[in-house]
Amino acid sequence: MLHNLISIFFPDSCILCDNTLIRNESNICLTCISKLPQNENSNLKEKLSCLVPIQLASSFLKYEKYNSTRNILHHLKYKKNQEVGYQISLLFGQKLLTKGLKNKIDYFIPVPLHPKKLTSRGYNQCDSIAKALQEKLGGKVILDGLTRKSFEASQTKKSKWNRWIETKNSFQANPNLGINMLDKHIAIVDDVITTGATIESCANALITAGFRKISVLTLACAT
Ligand SMILES: [Zn+2]
Repeated sequence: MLHNLISIFFPDSCILCDNTLIRNESNICLTCISKLPQNENSNLKEKLSCLVPIQLASSFLKYEKYNSTRNILHHLKYKKNQEVGYQISLLFGQKLLTKGLKNKIDYFIPVPLHPKKLTSRGYNQCDSIAKALQEKLGGKVILDGLTRKSFEASQTKKSKWNRWIETKNSFQANPNLGINMLDKHIAIVDDVITTGATIESCANALITAGFRKISVLTLACAT
């Protein structure tokens, strides 16, 4: 009620085109939604070299230096706008529904942030993506299914090799995940995939813990 009243005097505008949002629109106008750069030919699996084959790897949007995906992720990560991540991920979930993925994934596990980053940001931007996918596809979200180890020295002072080694070893499966879950279908959820190193590391951590059926779902993919 209060929000409605406020919006009469201070209408929200689209975070992409700045046009005034109309009733039932939030964050992004319908015109901009219809123009989202969807990833039609995702070659996500080729980016990944995990210990076992990935069941399914899918990414919703193309991420480029100056496109609207970058803008959306900027709002999600740096402007505390978790709602836009949820909203766009519902569209991703809807698309996956049409590919027959209803109730096909048992658990959605978001890629965890580095503990220091989580403290400064206050939230993990992958959580809202996982929750929206679960909302559309069924299954459960396990927010702490993976944990990220903390490396103390500054990343910028390290050699490329050391950074690679640390990324490779920085995740582990939560030891509290039950042994009865090992044959379940797990989807690792991330905001954007660039080199694939982070996702590979997460997948390998789950595989080391005994999981065998792993998929990867990311909101965006760098082209
Ligand atoms: Zn717009």
